[in-house]
Amino acid sequence: MLEILTFPDPRLRNKAQPVEKVDDTVRKLVDDMFHTMYEAPGIGLAANQVNEARRIVVADVSEDRSQPLCLINPQILALDGVEEMEEGCLSVPGVTETVQRADRVRVRAQNRDGEAFELDAEGLLAVCIQHELDHLDGKLFIDYLSNLKRQRIRKKLEKQGRSKSEAAPAI
Ligand code: ZN
Repeated sequence: MLEILTFPDPRLRNKAQPVEKVDDTVRKLVDDMFHTMYEAPGIGLAANQVNEARRIVVADVSEDRSQPLCLINPQILALDGVEEMEEGCLSVPGVTETVQRADRVRVRAQNRDGEAFELDAEGLLAVCIQHELDHLDGKLFIDYLSNLKRQRIRKKLEKQGRSKSEAAPAI
């Protein structure tokens, strides 16, 4: 299992670089990320969260954990609708906050074999994808909150160290 960086670790702010070639090294990282996400447990994980500044995301929002999704070099092609959902994050343990995002998203990416594909997602998966793509740009869901709220979260996490909440899915 890979170590998951937690806020306010400055490495979470690194912008991830594109993957130039999907080779065995990349596939190994993808597999380790899936393992780490399932063990955590979470429904999504971006490579930045495990200190690999590359544009790789893994996700699985299914209840029985049977629909692994790997997005390499993901790009959002279209956003539509509005959704408010309570979010959590493996890198901000014990914190859940409501964030407003698009309800539907169309994304283009490469899979674990390096093949390009497009995907239409809605609801939880759409929110998860937007949350993870934010990670790739060094952005966290708490960035959508007020400064004051974010400072409180920082103090809380610094005081408590690591703790986990089951209140909302951790992405
Ligand atoms: Zn997250």
